Amino acid sequence: MAEYTPMMQQYLSIKADYEDAFLFFRLGDFYELFFDDALRASQELEITLTSRDGGKGNRIPMCGVPHHSSPNYIAQLIEKGFKVAICEQVEDPKVAKGVVKRDVVQVITPGTVMEGAMLDEKVNNFIASITPLSEGYGIATCDLSTGQNSVKILKEDWKSVCLELQSLEIKEVVVPGNIAEDQVNMLRDLYQFTVSNEREIEVPESLHSIITTLGTEDLQKTGKQLLSYLVRTQKRALDHLQEFEYVETTSYMKIDPNSKRNLELVETLRQKQKKGSLLWLLDKTVTAMGGRMLKQWIEQPLLDSKPIEERLSIVETFMKQFFNREQIREQLTEVYDLERLAGKVAFGNVNARDLIQLKRSLQNIPTLKDRLLDMDHPGLTSRSEAMDPCVDLERLLEASVHEEAPISIKEGNIIKSGYNEQLDEYRNASVNGKSWIASLEQSERERTGIRSLKIRYNRVFGYYIEVTKSNLHLIDEERYERKQTLANAERFITPELKEKEDIILSAEEKSVELEYQLFLEIREQVKAFIPHLQKLAKQISEIDVLQAFAVVSEEGQYCRPIISREGTIRIEEGRHPVVEQMMDRQDYVSNDVNMDPEREVLLITGPNMAGKSTYMRQVALSSILLQIGCFVPAQSATLPIFDQIFTRIGAADDLAGGQSTFMVEMMETQYALTHATDKSLLLLDEIGRGTSTYDGMSLAQSIIEYIHHHIGAKTLFSTHYHELTVLENELDRLHNIHVKAIEEEGKVVFLHKVEDGKADRSYGIHVAELAQLPEKLIQRANELLTEFESDTNHTERPAKKEAESKVHEEGQLSLFEPEAPSVKTQKKIEHHPVIDQLKNMELLSMTPLEAMNALYELQLSIKQEKQEESKWAKSNS
Ligand code: ADP
Ligand code: MG
Repeated sequence: MAEYTPMMQQYLSIKADYEDAFLFFRLGDFYELFFDDALRASQELEITLTSRDGGKGNRIPMCGVPHHSSPNYIAQLIEKGFKVAICEQVEDPKVAKGVVKRDVVQVITPGTVMEGAMLDEKVNNFIASITPLSEGYGIATCDLSTGQNSVKILKEDWKSVCLELQSLEIKEVVVPGNIAEDQVNMLRDLYQFTVSNEREIEVPESLHSIITTLGTEDLQKTGKQLLSYLVRTQKRALDHLQEFEYVETTSYMKIDPNSKRNLELVETLRQKQKKGSLLWLLDKTVTAMGGRMLKQWIEQPLLDSKPIEERLSIVETFMKQFFNREQIREQLTEVYDLERLAGKVAFGNVNARDLIQLKRSLQNIPTLKDRLLDMDHPGLTSRSEAMDPCVDLERLLEASVHEEAPISIKEGNIIKSGYNEQLDEYRNASVNGKSWIASLEQSERERTGIRSLKIRYNRVFGYYIEVTKSNLHLIDEERYERKQTLANAERFITPELKEKEDIILSAEEKSVELEYQLFLEIREQVKAFIPHLQKLAKQISEIDVLQAFAVVSEEGQYCRPIISREGTIRIEEGRHPVVEQMMDRQDYVSNDVNMDPEREVLLITGPNMAGKSTYMRQVALSSILLQIGCFVPAQSATLPIFDQIFTRIGAADDLAGGQSTFMVEMMETQYALTHATDKSLLLLDEIGRGTSTYDGMSLAQSIIEYIHHHIGAKTLFSTHYHELTVLENELDRLHNIHVKAIEEEGKVVFLHKVEDGKADRSYGIHVAELAQLPEKLIQRANELLTEFESDTNHTERPAKKEAESKVHEEGQLSLFEPEAPSVKTQKKIEHHPVIDQLKNMELLSMTPLEAMNALYELQLSIKQEKQEESKWAKSNS
């Protein structure tokens, strides 16, 4: 330490407290980074790496970004999951003795960003914290930008906790000091979260009230840990944080992250984009807040029929009263993001323009309330009456803040005249002074006869009189004092001009200063309204989402679903809401769905591309639509309330996941089978496809039997194993259905029509034909098929062993088996240490999770080796 300069010593002692963040160290107009921070930041941000003398000739790596463009760089780092600690000078350099005092004023992290560019307006930015409890884990979440908080308790294992956080799209996870290292590693490496530590829990008095309403010690402890982290990193009063809401995990339909992905609820499987997802289809919201609430609703369908029916009934009213609804939409478009505005107010970074947005938003509320009353629906009437338009706040802002105020709050022109007497006086003095100067210019021109004489202002000389060289003989030198000589003009001042200048400038300076003070006062007054604004924001978001449901339901000609208490699914002419939207609607073939306690499992067969997956998904999506309170795409629909939905896609079909291993397919299936109940909906799409034929078929059959005998969940199981259709004879609640395709002139035509019974054959070769494989090849395939069909009776399942040996004899499956590795690679593999580790693994004594972790480690070590090899190769080339 002692070798470093005093400033570097200061740097190092601050950095010691923020090891996991980039320390942006303020030096004049720059933020500088040193040591490792500099090395990494120069790479991540592509900025020049330099160095600096750190004392006794030590060169220290350094790089920096200008203060004014820092938000951009900070955003880049946050985007990549890093944290940034902002270290400012906290005393005036002019009065400082020795090194200027510096301190960290805020830590910006992926889970705590507040600034516009880093936030997606229609998506919440959640940070979560995990607290181990005597049983299970407490999970607290917060969106700092909106102040929304919640806690829940998961009495499950660590993996379920990770999955839960993943499905909530958490940006950052806070853990306490006593969490095991491998758990942290799992969060960081396997699930790619930004992880932060909170070792000592400390929550200021002022925030106790938002926690104490939580019922139990455990819940409070959970909430406190998150709060403690937020307070420690943000270093300011967080007045906008709302009371923690206790989320009972049993009050919402559970959709695990895989099912969410497979059903493309909020993003598509392949492109990971919103377009093409259910969220995209439903997002006819007109406010950002409504957009965020919609996403939350989709992720948390309800279980209680009462609020579902209420939502449905409001949607119906909105559909019937088109005119009123359009007017409500219009009002809503004028409402800005009240929730995030409130957050900015609390954070102290709201500017005058934000306050104008706030005012305009509030001005729309009375009309909105009236239109809601007009609809004459008890639910809407009570909602309208509950809305507080914050009249006092609206009046305050109307009286005080200028409509065209600038972004900066330190340069004046913010406060309206008439709001503050003192301010008006300063302004008058300045205005009068300026008009006096204008008349002086006029009278000087007349007196001297110099028509080009001008009075101007600049920062160095203040006001001056400018006379061109050719006119200099006309002035009287006694009154004009020379100030500056230019190429073809001279500048003068006079005592009276300077006197007025003093008045003008001091009035201006004072008025700007006063405006700033007044603005801060107004901001403080707005703070008192934060809870009202947050409540209003929620009310408005809800109306916005419900009107969006009405718009979508009307455009898509959806029907109001009926809730079945008997576990019946009866859908007439049902459609897949997104697929039909992506194609010409008339071309979509609607289908019926019939399931009940006697028809619990549907086994779906039919050629590839026939529409099996689409059919299954439309059942799940219709259920979700019902349980979020939206109409469903069908002629009529009766559906039960499902407690959970599981969707599994066979590894062979899961092209997008990038982890299409059979192991994953089985692990996911395991999860579904252990968690599903008789109130759940199970979609199993080509399960068993990821392994060899007889293996897969056996698994598929036993899975179906297990569900049928032990779970009793409503299940749709699609399969290309025709052989499974015989199960209909053995399992009384299982029924075969198939998606119809016909042959026309030797070609397959998909009708997308679902009918009872099994498909008559597989159409694989025709699909190959459609894909325009060579004609000769197709011919040969047809020949072979005929041969096989006459050889073995394919509708009957041969015993497993016999079949396999047969297949090997004929060399049939060799196409699908991996090529035998060449001698060279074989040798290499045998000598690899990973092989030894693999050999020594005690698989039987491991849990799937442990196996997964072990595999992960092995993979990592190979990857690292590869990297080193290529580095080595590079440095040698
Ligand atoms: P499968 O799972 O049987 O292979 P998919 O469900 O993936 O088939 O459907 C394949 C394609 O067929 C879809 O991408 C869609 O374009 C079209 N399709 C599916 N169902 C229908 C339908 N009911 N009406 C019209 N087109 C459909
Ligand atoms: Mg499919």
